[in-house]
Amino acid sequence: MNKIFFLVTALFILTAGKAQTNIGTDTTTVIILSANDMHAKIDNFPKFKALVDNYRQHYENVLVVSAGDMFTGNPIVDQYPDKGFPMIELMNRVGFTIGTIGNHEFDYGQETLKRRIAQAQFPLISANIASPDSIGINPDAYRIVSLNNGIKIGFVGAIQLNSEGLPDSHPSKLGGIQFTDGITRIKEYRSLRDSCNIFVGLTHLGFEDDVELANQFGEFDVILGGHSHTLVTNPVEYNSVLVMQAGSSLKNLGLITIKLVGGKVVSKKAELISVLDYPEVDSTLLSIVDRFNDNKELNKVIGTAQNDITGNDELGSLMTDGMCSLDEIEIAFQNVGGIRVDILPKGNITIKDVYKLDPFGNEIILLKMNVSEIKSLILNAFNREKAIDLVASGIAYTVIANSKGIGTEVKLFMPDGSDVDASKVFATGLSSYIVSSYDFKHEDPGQSLYTTTAQALINFISAKKEVNYTGIKRVSVSQKAD
Ligand SMILES: [Zn+2]
Repeated sequence: MNKIFFLVTALFILTAGKAQTNIGTDTTTVIILSANDMHAKIDNFPKFKALVDNYRQHYENVLVVSAGDMFTGNPIVDQYPDKGFPMIELMNRVGFTIGTIGNHEFDYGQETLKRRIAQAQFPLISANIASPDSIGINPDAYRIVSLNNGIKIGFVGAIQLNSEGLPDSHPSKLGGIQFTDGITRIKEYRSLRDSCNIFVGLTHLGFEDDVELANQFGEFDVILGGHSHTLVTNPVEYNSVLVMQAGSSLKNLGLITIKLVGGKVVSKKAELISVLDYPEVDSTLLSIVDRFNDNKELNKVIGTAQNDITGNDELGSLMTDGMCSLDEIEIAFQNVGGIRVDILPKGNITIKDVYKLDPFGNEIILLKMNVSEIKSLILNAFNREKAIDLVASGIAYTVIANSKGIGTEVKLFMPDGSDVDASKVFATGLSSYIVSSYDFKHEDPGQSLYTTTAQALINFISAKKEVNYTGIKRVSVSQKAD
C-alpha cells in the first residue's frame, strides 16, 4: 500500500505541482483524513502522526478531522487527573483541523468538556447543541476553513440523540444543555453551499442517519460520520453525497481525495486506510504516549481470571457480582451497553482492565424494589431493543417474548432455580445511568451508595483473588408462538 501511495504521490507532484496561488482555472487537490470514534486510543497516535505527516509532505492541502467520540474507552485517558487531557494534547500535536462533538464528549462532565474545548487548538462544532451562558457549551454549528489559494471548505456538525432526545451519555452530564434534531438543524445551512467550494457534513449521527441526511441534503459533497463505528470498506454515494465512516479506535482513517478545477469539484473519492499497518511511528509522540501509559496505580494487578471471561453473560455476571458484594445489596443489574470490552482474558486482572470494562464512573444506586417493579424494569429494558439488556446477580430471569419478539412477561428465579417469593422486596443495586435513563416502575427513588460500579468491582476482585465465569448465564429469552 505504501509503495502505491508514493507512486500516486509522485505522479501528482509531477502533474499538478505544489504552487497554487489563485482559484482561476487551477487544479487543486484537497486531502481530508477523517478519524471517528477514537475513544481515547492514544496508543495508535505515533503511527497516526507519522502517516499524517507523510501526506503533508506530499500534498499541500491536507485537513485532519474528527467525527466525534474522542473520549471514553481507555482508562489512561479516562482516569487521568484532568480527564481527557492526553487525547487533546495528542490531537493538537497531530494538528487536527476541526472536530464535531460526539455523545461521549460529555462523559467527563460539563466543566471538564469546557476545559478540553479550551485546550483544543482546533474548533469543535455541532449544529444541535446549545446552552445558556451559565453553562457555556455553545459550539458553532459550522466553520469554513480557507486554504492558502482561497478554496473554502465548509463543515457543519451534528450529534445523534436517543429516544429521550439526549445524546447517549449520563443524563446528569447533560443537564441544562438543549439538544435539537440534528438533521433538521443541518438543513438550515443549505445556503452555505454557495459560500464554499467543498461542503462537508462532519457528523456524529451514525451511518444510517448519515445516509438519511445525504438523501435529504444533496448539497454536501461528502459526509464524514461517526457514532455507529461502521467500517465503510467500499464507500458509495447516496444522492451524489459520499458517505464515509472509518470504524473506531483509530485503527483506520477515511482518506478523502477531492479534486477541484477553477474552484469546482470535478472528482471525489473516499477510501479506507489502515493506521495500524502504517510502517512508521513519530518518535516524539511515542515518548509522550509512553509517558501517559506509565501509570503505576492503573497497572496494579488485583486478581486473576482463571479462564477468559467473554460476552455479555459472563462479563455482566462478574460486574453485577461486584455490585452485590456490597453489604447493602441483594440483587443487581447491569445494562449490556455499559459492558465496554468483549473479553477479560485469562490471567492477571489490573485496575486498568476494570476501567476498560466499566469506564463511565457511574455510582451505585440502591432501590428497594418489589417483584412487580423488578419485572417492569426487566421488561422495559428488554423492549428497548427486543433483546436481553440487563444481566443480573442474586436473581435470574427469563423474558417471554411473542412472535414479534416483544417481551410480554418475565419469570424470576432465585440463583438456585427456586421460585421467588412474590411478596419479597429486594435491595436492588443499579447504576445511576439505568436509574436516570430507563423507564420502569419504582416507588423508591433510590439512594446513592457513594461508590462507583467500577470501584465495587475492583474491591470484589481484590477480595476474591481468583474469578471464573465460564459458562455462567443467568438471563434468557424464550420466544412463544402466539
Ligand atoms: Zn458515539
